[in-house]
Amino acid sequence: MRSPKWILINIIICIVTTYFASSSYANIWLSNKQVGQGETFAVYCDDLDSVSLEASCLNQRVTFFPTSPDAFTQRALFAIPLEADMGAYPVLVSWEANNKRHSLTMKINIVKGKFQHVNFNLPKSKKPLLNQNLIVDEWGEIEEAILNTLPEQKWEGSFTKPCPGVTSLPFGTFELINGKTNSRHKGSDIYNEKEEKTDILASNNGVVVIAKTFKSFGNTVVINHGQNVFSIYFHLSKILVQKEDTVKKGDLVGKMGTTGMSTAPHLHFALSVNNHRVNPNQWLSEEF
Ligand SMILES: [Zn+2]
Repeated sequence: MRSPKWILINIIICIVTTYFASSSYANIWLSNKQVGQGETFAVYCDDLDSVSLEASCLNQRVTFFPTSPDAFTQRALFAIPLEADMGAYPVLVSWEANNKRHSLTMKINIVKGKFQHVNFNLPKSKKPLLNQNLIVDEWGEIEEAILNTLPEQKWEGSFTKPCPGVTSLPFGTFELINGKTNSRHKGSDIYNEKEEKTDILASNNGVVVIAKTFKSFGNTVVINHGQNVFSIYFHLSKILVQKEDTVKKGDLVGKMGTTGMSTAPHLHFALSVNNHRVNPNQWLSEEF
């Protein structure tokens, strides 16, 4: 039988140990234990100094942003490239507390995505659009806009599908165009039988940063959702917003079309996180 004094000493040791453990290791967690190629995961931290907070994984060093203006919780988003090899990767989080640098290493498991291979023919009249210089130049203009960050989170909850319809070409598909150009499809194509009468709606709240006609992408709208997250809408028949417009989830931004490098009316819907194109369907079901 232990004496009451011995039990009291043990309780004190326990409380002291718990206190020092919690002051050294902050509350840090991952949104997912495993993600597919081309998907997103987040690192969340509670109650840490944002100035000194850093996270890195897969040669990406990512900035933390608050999850709301008065947030106690901060989040860093990681986009897994489509080409990433499968396996377990370290996620390193470091921060400063009591004049000391602390760090914590967690693991994220990257699993193989399921991707199709398709071969399609672009009509002769649209072949000049396959010119790589044109695509690089026009993408450069979009990239300039999506490198411009907005520290505030504009999106609310999960994203919504911009229009009803079936997925005619999934994200990540290996594309062989006219038997030659081999590339990956970095968006999700949605087809609706109403075709050009189909409304295209903002997938979440944000600010329009591009509302412009490109030769290769056709009529294009890009929405900045803050914190390096952007949604992209290609091949529209009509653009119904202007640059710098503020939009809410579900607002009309355009009509489905087949402008630019497209063979039939559809919407090419893409999502960019830290300038990597990620699977937009994940954001329709998961909340970051
Ligand atoms: Zn597409």
